[in-house]
Parts: sequence; structure tokens; C-alpha cells
Amino acid sequence: MPAVDLRSDTVTKPSPAMREAMARADVGDDVYGEDPTVNRLQSRVAELLGKAAALFVPSGVMANQIALAVQTRPGDEVLISRGAHCMWYESGAGPALAGVQFRELGGDDGLYTARDLAAMINPDNSHYPVSALCAVENSHNRGGGRIFPQRSIDEIAEVARKHGLKLHLDGARLWNVHVATATPLAALCAPFDTISVCLSKGLGAPVGSLVAGDAETIARAHRRRKMLGGGMRQAGILAAAGLYALEHQLQRLAEDHANARGFAERIARSPGITVGPVDTNIVIWDLAPEVPLDAATFVKRARDRGLLLNAMGERRVRAVTHLDVSAAEVARGAELALEVLKSA
Ligand SMILES: *Cc1c(COP(=O)(O)O)cnc(C)c1O
Repeated sequence: MPAVDLRSDTVTKPSPAMREAMARADVGDDVYGEDPTVNRLQSRVAELLGKAAALFVPSGVMANQIALAVQTRPGDEVLISRGAHCMWYESGAGPALAGVQFRELGGDDGLYTARDLAAMINPDNSHYPVSALCAVENSHNRGGGRIFPQRSIDEIAEVARKHGLKLHLDGARLWNVHVATATPLAALCAPFDTISVCLSKGLGAPVGSLVAGDAETIARAHRRRKMLGGGMRQAGILAAAGLYALEHQLQRLAEDHANARGFAERIARSPGITVGPVDTNIVIWDLAPEVPLDAATFVKRARDRGLLLNAMGERRVRAVTHLDVSAAEVARGAELALEVLKSA
């Protein structure tokens, strides 16, 4: 039996229908702005997110790093949710490439409040770095796929505006928030100056992300993409996968959310673990002190039984549901996780 792969929603493979759409794509040289499929994807995503423009880039890391760089100056400070991808999982690109330093705010669930932000904004005094930008990750990966309450975002935006900070949304999994809350994407994005979204997570495209914002910001993003080596040529083949995913694989994220909830409910009945709240397609759990396994050993034993997971810390494990695992496979995955616990 093939392994149940719950490591990440990035492990999905393009379906025959998606490959068909890729093969049929009209293409041109996108560095000259002449790829009709890339142009169509950029317009479509800008429209969905309610922004003037969007730029197709190879990865979510590049989308985030472009957004940071075009809205800050070297030496500036970026205030960011605890455990944020921009800071934890981008190889130090923020400090190395944009020259910014990060300060984390809020709780381990990746949420923070307007009050947390207000307390961290530096006074206008030459001793301090300029607090130039604050960032929200929605849903929040290390927070276990948590959804950032929109009311809280509105309050954060008000404080940010008052102090002249720009606002960036790392929306790699914003699609999940949209589907889980039935909130229009444009409403989720309205408070933000820039937004990054991934096509290669839950949407199931093989490659690609976009960064969206106003026309002037995206014009600068275009130059920055070039600088980072992210200019692609006949990228319409990739953009076609994104357009296909938006059309056919967006609303089905609800199934991933239901599967994640089912998985969490099943394993939560076992002693020895504490399962975090499940807002979207991510389940995290902590191994209790009496369980004689750390997360890395748990993940290894699960692998031996045919369940693939990721460790998220010393005693924290993560499972992510996606397009390529059915409800039945996720249910089998939960049983395998329970076997690992029982045999410990
Ligand atoms: C995956 C992810 C990204 C981008 O990752 P890439 O692998 O570069 O596409 C950015 N932010 C979050 C929250 C993510 O989960």
C-alpha cells in the first residue's frame, strides 16, 4: 500500500487534466510581458484579491521577499507574527537580501492584536530601527493553520496606518481561509498593501506564487523579481496550471478541512497527546511528557508504518491534508498515528 503522505500540501502532483491545460497553454516571452497565459493569471489573481496588479513569481519565498524589499529600506524593522514563514523558513532572506530585521509579536498560534503591535512600534528616534512594515500570515502554518480573525486584522491595520507602517499579508494559504470562512478574497485582502499567494500549496499546481498590490508597488516588484533572477520566459505553461487550479481546485479545499478535522478528532481521543484547534487543513499535536517519544522519533516510527508527517519542534508533530489524500486515506493515517502512540 502506498504511504499516506501528510507531510505538506506541497506534495500534490498535477492531475492529467491539469497537465492537459498546461500542454495547451498559449505562451510567449514573459520577460517581454508577452505571455498571454501569464498575463491572464496575473489579471485573474489581481481581480480575485481586489488589487490593481499581481506578478507571477516562481515561489512563495520570492513573493514574500519581493514584498518586504519593495516596502522597506535596509536597516528597517519588520514586525511579524511569531513563527512566521517570512522569518523562519526563508533561509534568512529578509536580513540578507532586504536588509531588514524582524521582531516577532503575539502568541505561538501566530495571532497578535493591535495592542501587541502598538507596543512594539519604535518611537521616531535615531537609536531605533524604523518600524516600516508589519506582516500577518493567514492561515498561519506554525500556528497549525490558524485563521487570523478579520476584525483583529482591521484593528491592526488601523494602528499600522496611524504609524505609517505598510502591511503585508503572507497568504500562501489564504485560499483555505477564504473557503473555511466564506469571506470573499478581496475582503480578506482589503487592509493590506501587498499580498503573496501560493498556487502550489492546497490549490495543487506544481509551481508558482503571486505578489499583488497597487500598480506602482507591483512595477517595483517587477524590477526586484528580475534582480532575484525570477524572470521566466514561456512561463504560461506554469500559469496555465494555476488558472486550472483556481477554476477547479479552489472550492474543494473544504474537503481537506473536513479531513483534517476528522483526523484531529480521531487522534484527540488518545491519551498522551494534545491536539491543537483545527481551522483549516493543518493539524498539530504535542506529545505529553509521559510519552517516551520525541517528535522526530514519532515521525520516524510513523514512516515505518506508512504514514508521512513532519516534526514541528521537539515534541510537536504536524499533519497536512490535501488534494492527493482521500478521506479514507486520512482516516487510515489517523489509525497509524494512534498505533505509533500505543506501541511507544
Ligand atoms: C509555503 C509557504 C510559503 C512559500 O513557500 P515556497 O515553498 O517558497 O513556495 C510562504 N509562506 C507560507 C506561510 C508558506 O506556508
